[in-house]
Amino acid sequence: MIKKFLNKVFNKRQQAEIDINQAERDVVETAKKIPAKKHKINKSLISSAAIKTCEGLHNAGFDAYIVGGAVRDLLLDSKPKDFDVATNAEPEEVYKVFKRSRIIGKRFRLVHVMWGRETIEVSTFRGHHESKGDKNKGDASVNDSGRILRDNIFGSLEDDAVRRDFTANALYYNPKTEMVLDFHNGAADVKKRILRMIGDPVTRYQEDPIRMLRAVRLSAKLGLKIDKATEAPIAKLADLLHDVPPSRLFDEMLKLFLSGHAIESINILREQHLHHGLLPLLDVVLEQPLGEKFVMLALKNTDDRINAGKSSNPSFLFATLLWHEVLKAWEPHKKQMPMIPALYQAMDDVVKQQAKKLAIHNRFVSGMKEIWAMQPRFEQRSGKRPFGLLAHKRYRAAYDFMLLRCESGELPADIGEWWTTFADAKSEQRNAMLLPNTGPKKRRRRRPKKKPSNKEVSSV
Ligand code: ATP
Ligand code: MG
Repeated sequence: MIKKFLNKVFNKRQQAEIDINQAERDVVETAKKIPAKKHKINKSLISSAAIKTCEGLHNAGFDAYIVGGAVRDLLLDSKPKDFDVATNAEPEEVYKVFKRSRIIGKRFRLVHVMWGRETIEVSTFRGHHESKGDKNKGDASVNDSGRILRDNIFGSLEDDAVRRDFTANALYYNPKTEMVLDFHNGAADVKKRILRMIGDPVTRYQEDPIRMLRAVRLSAKLGLKIDKATEAPIAKLADLLHDVPPSRLFDEMLKLFLSGHAIESINILREQHLHHGLLPLLDVVLEQPLGEKFVMLALKNTDDRINAGKSSNPSFLFATLLWHEVLKAWEPHKKQMPMIPALYQAMDDVVKQQAKKLAIHNRFVSGMKEIWAMQPRFEQRSGKRPFGLLAHKRYRAAYDFMLLRCESGELPADIGEWWTTFADAKSEQRNAMLLPNTGPKKRRRRRPKKKPSNKEVSSV
């Protein structure tokens, strides 16, 4: 009985293997096949979760490849940030193969397969939009400017390669055969360190304007040169970004700022005239010497942290990018109300204005506001107030932010030095450091004299 069962499993595996090899043979016609001894991918850089995902799909009789940026990074001998798998299995079929998985997305349906703390994104091969007539092949829609709103038409491996953005991102690695399939000369472009759009760049940017930001981010992150024809239309098409949903723009900008190459990315964004309107008036901030210095220092600080393997808090990052906007909006409010309510009003104005273009997630907005709201408290260095600030749960982020303000010349440097010493000092030293209270004395409200109660009156 057991033998019969094992035989059945074995036969199914063998059949799956034959099918995979057949599928791979079929695409050889159009793809270059690069064997392990030629591509020399270091297998220790490949996530075991990605390999297990491919194996699971292979064993169930499907094709599955590690694809996209992961293969590009492996060819560059660097450790990929994340791993994506492409397969001919449809989302529901992938979901059935893996116990710990879920189908996500509407615009682009795919499956997240979870292995411990790692998640592998599995997408079904995408097909051409022309095959829309075939109802069983999913749904797609495009708006008037050619932007793809939904992309759920499935196709062959070859179709999938055409739908990817850059040649370097259209490489498919089969962990079983260790072969890389290359449909668009991506491996040669990676070697030459060129980022080249697949197909006609104008059409591809119209389909998805985010690809312009991806070109900037990937070229900054990987040191790839954007090919001339790929680069040429960007400046002219920059306005297409206004049409992209603010939440998608936020995700892409976050990736860009947290890539460890934010400074280069901002420089390329400016060269390509893509920075207008992404963060309102980022271009204006960057044109004021103090604003530019502050933003650049903040981005350098973020790059250094990421490159040292530390995390970086998006609330902090966006708080720095928008701080000079808050300072500007604060001024007119100060004329109409006390300092602190005026600051809160300015913060609300800036966040509201920002949300029209690029919606910063709510969970980051509250952190940003806390960092901003704590800034005036660093200037109060007398009495009990510094102790309260030091004990605040967001003190560290607000302190780092204040140091950047000092470094950029917005605040006197001695304020930063004072807080650094104060935080490290022992209790008596801290008391000795406190400045005399020179601010306007708080007027004590006199308690109104107690009127004698009726009872007291009557007892007299
Ligand atoms: P990173 O190293 O930042 O992860 P990546 O190229 O892997 O870069 P992902 O967002 O992980 O970026 O996307 C995985 C793959 O999906 C890409 O390599 C590309 O093949 C494809 N892809 C992603 N976004 C697009 C897009 N907007 N248009 C076409 N293909 C895309
Ligand atoms: Mg990736």
